Amino acid sequence: MKEFRQGLRSPLGPLLPPASGRPDRFDSMELFDAQGLARDAVQDLCSEHLVPQAALEQHWPWARVRAEQEEQRLYGLMRRLSPEEYRRARALLGTHAAGSVRELSRQWDRLWMRFDFFESVADWPWCQVDGWWYPCPVCRWPMRAVRSGPLFDVRCEAHAPRGVHYRYTPGKGPGPGELTGTGKAAVPVTPLPASSDHLGVKRHVWRYGTLPVLLELQMRDELKGLPFLELEMWPGEQRPDEYDLHITVAVPGKRARHWRVDAKAWESVVALGKALSDRPVLRKGLTIVLPDHQHSERHFLAAQVRDRGVKVTTVSRLVKQVKAACGAPR
Ligand SMILES: [Zn+2]
Repeated sequence: MKEFRQGLRSPLGPLLPPASGRPDRFDSMELFDAQGLARDAVQDLCSEHLVPQAALEQHWPWARVRAEQEEQRLYGLMRRLSPEEYRRARALLGTHAAGSVRELSRQWDRLWMRFDFFESVADWPWCQVDGWWYPCPVCRWPMRAVRSGPLFDVRCEAHAPRGVHYRYTPGKGPGPGELTGTGKAAVPVTPLPASSDHLGVKRHVWRYGTLPVLLELQMRDELKGLPFLELEMWPGEQRPDEYDLHITVAVPGKRARHWRVDAKAWESVVALGKALSDRPVLRKGLTIVLPDHQHSERHFLAAQVRDRGVKVTTVSRLVKQVKAACGAPR
């Protein structure tokens, strides 16, 4: 028991059965940060796996709510919009997930305050350093600040694998200290006051709304302008859970090719596989797209959904495939 307790304080690998063979990043997972507080990714994993323990429920009542249900609720709310407003809301989730009330209300415009998506950054101590917060340069959502001796590690939990991480050195005066990039995608970011007039979308909206939209926007941007290509984003008229991006390549003299894409940014690919295979309806011919850093987990997910006629790939792989179909140079 003593060893087990100690084991919970370091990466989980040594505690797991060696033959589990599940590429779920559990083995490199650390449950607690340097202060001994449960890390946010743990909350996502619990929610995605529907961890039933009473102890968890006491601290995180929403851990009982399956991530799948949160995702469905989010899209259920948005599907009540007109197709045009729905597309607008989807894009805004990706591009304006956090910021000052002034900026957010201007951007969300007619859609502002029609959802209970936002919370005050002032209520989120996990992202604050000396009264400031830093938006991730990719998703704009607050980056997590973890004390490391006299300094802080500042990083986006979703985009740290892409190199979005920084080191914060406290300043001498009342202003923000110095933020130095430590990753290859750590471009300069402006500190914002952690005040009640700065808001961010709730955590589950960020994970199941903002993150997939960013993947879809990335694919759109990388494919834009290719010959024989047609792209349709977020067709609002079709049934929920069908697809978010429809790619058609029609080269003259050849049969047209179609990709109906649904991007997913779950922390756990195992839980995602379970949720997808539990779905009564899953569109045949659907392509599930994962972030590039989950590329080693795509085979596992593919095996889970193969008999439902669903394919699995990553953003870069899909872009490459579509470019090849258009006859574009790689
Ligand atoms: Zn981010």
